[in-house]
This record gives sequence, C-alpha cells and structure tokens, in this order.
Amino acid sequence: MTPSAIACAVGGGLILAEALLLRMVRRERTVWPELVFNLNSGHILMWAFRGVEIAVYAAVFAHLNLHWVDRLPRMAQWIFALFAWDLCFYWRHRTHHRFGLLWAVHIVHHQGEHFNLSLCNRNSWYASLTDLPFIGVLAVLGLPLDIYVAVSSFHYAVQFFNHSGLVRSPGVLDRFLVTPRYHRVHHRAEPQFFNRNFGGTFLLWDKFFRTFTPPDDGHVHARYGVDGIENSRNPLRATHEPLLRLVGVRWPDVERCPSARASAAFVTTGALLLYGLLICWLNTQHGAHPDPRWMLMGCTLAGTIALGAHCDGKRWALPTWCSLAFAVPVVLHGDRTVSDAVPAAVLVLFAIHGVFGIIQFARSVASPSRLPQR
Ligand SMILES: [Zn+2]
Repeated sequence: MTPSAIACAVGGGLILAEALLLRMVRRERTVWPELVFNLNSGHILMWAFRGVEIAVYAAVFAHLNLHWVDRLPRMAQWIFALFAWDLCFYWRHRTHHRFGLLWAVHIVHHQGEHFNLSLCNRNSWYASLTDLPFIGVLAVLGLPLDIYVAVSSFHYAVQFFNHSGLVRSPGVLDRFLVTPRYHRVHHRAEPQFFNRNFGGTFLLWDKFFRTFTPPDDGHVHARYGVDGIENSRNPLRATHEPLLRLVGVRWPDVERCPSARASAAFVTTGALLLYGLLICWLNTQHGAHPDPRWMLMGCTLAGTIALGAHCDGKRWALPTWCSLAFAVPVVLHGDRTVSDAVPAAVLVLFAIHGVFGIIQFARSVASPSRLPQR
C-alpha cells in the first residue's frame, strides 16, 4: 500500500475504534451523521490538493531557492523543519481566523459540534490550497522536499491526536506540546474561547504570541462548533456555502423532497464505503494507468456529492447514488487497479448498497407516510 493509503486506513480505523471506546467507557453517544460527514467532508479533493501542495513546493524549491537551509548539516535541517513548519502552521491558522476568505475555508473545520478524532478530518475541499503561501516560505529558504513531506506528515499525525475525545491529559506532554486538553479550548463555541490556542504541535508559539488560554477542566457542559450557522451534511454545500456567503450569494435552497429518503444506517454505510473508495484511490497513486485512476477519483467525488445531496433532501440524489453503485463496479471491472481482494470487495459492497438504495427508494415512494426517521 502507498503511505497515504495506509495513513487514511489507519486514521479511519482509529476514528471508529475511538467512537466505540467512547461509547463503552464514557457512555457517550456516537453522532453518526456528524462522524461520517467529518470522514467525507474534505475527502478526495483535499487529498488531491495535498498532491498539488507538494508539487508547488517542489517547483518553488527548484526555482526560488535562496539555499539558506539546504547548506546546513542534515541534522540541522531536520531540527529547523520541526520548529519552522510548526511556526508557519501557527500563523497560517491564526490568519485563517483573521481574514474573511480564509475563515470561509477554515469554518468547515470549526462547525463540528462533537470533539473526537473524526473532527481532524473535517475540512473544506480547499484547505490544502490555502496552506501554500505559508509553507512556500520554507521552500524559498531551501528546506528540501523530502524533509518537508516527512515533517509535515509528522505534524499532521500530532494534530490528529490533538482531536482525541478519549485522551484528556497525556501527563508530562502537557508541559510543552499542544494536547487534546488544550486544543479543545480552540474548538469551544463560547465567546471567551474565540481565537485562542492556535498552535499545532508545540505550545511555545501560543505562549510567546500571547494567544494561550488554559483549559477549564471542571466545566462539564462545554459546547463546540460555530453558533448561528446551519450545518449542512452535504460536503459540496459545506465547502462552498461560506465562500458564496462572502460575496453575498445565498446557496440555492431548492424545496426539499419529502419522499425518496433513505435510513440513517444506509447513509452511514454509504459514507463508509466512500471512505473505502478513497483508500483504494490513494493506493493507486504509483504505477497505475491514469484512466482508471481518474475514473475512480471521479466516481468517489460524484458519490460524495450524491450522498451529501441526499442528506440535504434533494430529489435526484438517491437515484444518482444507486446508479453510481452499479456503474462503478461495471466500469472498473477487470482493471488491475481494483483487482486485489480489498478494492474488489469494496466495489461488490457498493453494488449491494445500490440494491438496498433502490429498495428504500421504492418503499419511500410507494408509502411516503412510512419514511425512515433520520
Ligand atoms: Zn481554527
């Protein structure tokens, strides 16, 4: 498997394991609609733009390099990268809270109302693109690409851990690292916590730039999210509605279709299958023929939009989802991209899911009064 496919699979597994443990240990209810939205919100375009980010970094490093860092000993380059990347992230994050256009991208991450590992995955499709001006500085200074990729991946892993709903205080790490205990503060909905604790990995930036607020550990009714804005379960809408609002355009609110509603279990399993397709796509990054790779990406993106639009009550969404569930396995049948056991199993499950979709569609149209509760 490719490193990004492994990261995506391990991350998804940890998110589901944490949801299970929170239920068993803390008796906390799993809000599945939000969890699966978080898994699929940034989804395939965010990963694709991570590729763009790395390509742009390589181009800047090749053509605008001042060679200040790459002349240093290799160990010094690593140490510089560890702290410089985190400082760039701090200012990237702080400016996303300060300027309207960047906030319209970052707000998707803040709209999650439950603090758990899945929240880290919740992002605008364009989140990776807005990193470019900040990480470009490192390329201009001459930080080699291989160190950049390794160090940024390490910091993203730390940030994933920082969204844990299970770990409260990891002991001595609290003294110098941003931990879930501190990052919870950043996601709180109460005004006294707005624009605090921007740090990603090291605690020192918030303390140095005076944006640190200690957690109120005794508060049992903490609220998370952004007040006053309706949360869409549609990733297409969640990403674009804040950007349209910025230029005074309202998201077209078509009258919702009361029929053709599928159950919450149907939506949840569909979203998990989409996550499986995403892992398959990430696993085809090297050596695959480009056509099936782009087809897999297009189908995953179309599936994300169809399932999201279904959550928003759009009439066309469920038939579109079912059509995709049948079309994708047929189109990709026999291609070596999906010939391994796991991708093949995902495609078969996708087709079976389409059958259940048709059954639910037929039932809800035939008997609208027995619509499933969501
Ligand atoms: Zn933030």
